[in-house]
Amino acid sequence: MRTLIKNGTIASASDTFLGDLLIEGEKVSLVGVGLEKLVGNVDRTIDATGKYVLPGGIDPHTHMDMPFGGTTSADDFESGTRCAAFGGTTCIVDFAIQPQGGSLKQGMEDWHRKAEGKACSDYAFHMIMRDVNKSSLLEMDQLVKHEGITSFKLFTAYPGVFYVDDASIFRAMQKTGENGGLICMHAENGPVIDVLIEQAVGRGEIAPKYHALTRPPRLEAEATHRVIALAEVAKVPVYIVHLSAKEALQQVREARDRGVSAIAETCSQYLFLSYDNYEEPGFDGAKYVMSPPLRPKGNELDLWKGLQLDDLALVSTDHCPFCLKEKQLGKDNFSKIPNGAPGVEMRMSLLWDGGVRTGKIDVNRFVQITSTAPAKMFGLYPKKGSLAPGSDADVVVFDPNREIKWSAKTHHTKADYNPYEGRTTKGGPSHVFSRGNLIVEGEKWLGSKGAGKFVKRNARRV
Ligand SMILES: [Zn+2]
Repeated sequence: MRTLIKNGTIASASDTFLGDLLIEGEKVSLVGVGLEKLVGNVDRTIDATGKYVLPGGIDPHTHMDMPFGGTTSADDFESGTRCAAFGGTTCIVDFAIQPQGGSLKQGMEDWHRKAEGKACSDYAFHMIMRDVNKSSLLEMDQLVKHEGITSFKLFTAYPGVFYVDDASIFRAMQKTGENGGLICMHAENGPVIDVLIEQAVGRGEIAPKYHALTRPPRLEAEATHRVIALAEVAKVPVYIVHLSAKEALQQVREARDRGVSAIAETCSQYLFLSYDNYEEPGFDGAKYVMSPPLRPKGNELDLWKGLQLDDLALVSTDHCPFCLKEKQLGKDNFSKIPNGAPGVEMRMSLLWDGGVRTGKIDVNRFVQITSTAPAKMFGLYPKKGSLAPGSDADVVVFDPNREIKWSAKTHHTKADYNPYEGRTTKGGPSHVFSRGNLIVEGEKWLGSKGAGKFVKRNARRV
């Protein structure tokens, strides 16, 4: 199958030019100018006049089919990758979880079972480690060398669930110095947050907004500072997931200015929502309960600056949707509200509308923070995150004039609410290809369940 996308504005993380792109089979085979005359007959031609041609989005932070607090996130790998594709994201890196008392291998097998035969586009895994001990440290080597799982997430939050102590974090970091893996950190001071939660609930402060008020920015900044220091001593890079507070960004910036390899992502919700959402009437604030929480208005200005200056490397979503019924679990106690919200479908359009259209970032930076940086950071490049010949034909034809009005009635995630309900964004995909297959055309779904493949990722060069 040969597809020619012609007359588009082809944009990579560095270049923008008017041209054509040829897809042959699953790969990009040619990129250039005037290809129509050169390539002869093709099976399909798409006229991309007035549109951009971009590498498919990569969201390196999703939680499909994830158990949390007695329930499970609403999107499985089928609906999750499908809604991602509708939003122009063609590859996700999801978090497999080491089961309590189990091995990393079991966690990996669990996640392969969840995804295989279901995912509609390609996917990879990080591994969440609950226990750092002799055997799990050895397993890290196996995962990096043989299984294509080259990053590991540890938590300074959620005592009794995911929390590990500093010594464990340090040991795991040292391990990645040997095997080329990368440690990803959820950085919030969980033990102190738990004290604040206990005290708040004791005072009868049970509404959703207290979720945010018991997780102050300072405790994100403190944990961010700490894990960067640990990585510095272990002489390895560290990756901070879902950085939300400007105080935490300040820690990353300070470290980077000293030449320390501290890398951080933020998520679209921290750029486009704020603490004010927790003040919505009734129990609506629960829709935005996620960790870290949304921060006060104005905080996002610092995050944009971070994206402009590369102190923030990319934008993910932490897509972890729950339906309102599940959110009700915390009706009488905010700490029982399942943490998470849908995001993967909206990310590209939000960033285009709020970033490129407003002039905060240009189209190349857009490609960088939505696709190329995640690919490079997590060992998917140049298979993913690139339109160079030989790369997977995960290609998005992006219409800068397409308007999308976000609503739970029309979105494709299985969540029954949308955090951006009623908001209109300008800029969205018109055609989405996954390894050469056209899987989305406007509002039409052309993909198929199970067509997505697991992608083994490369280790960081040690
Ligand atoms: Zn997460």
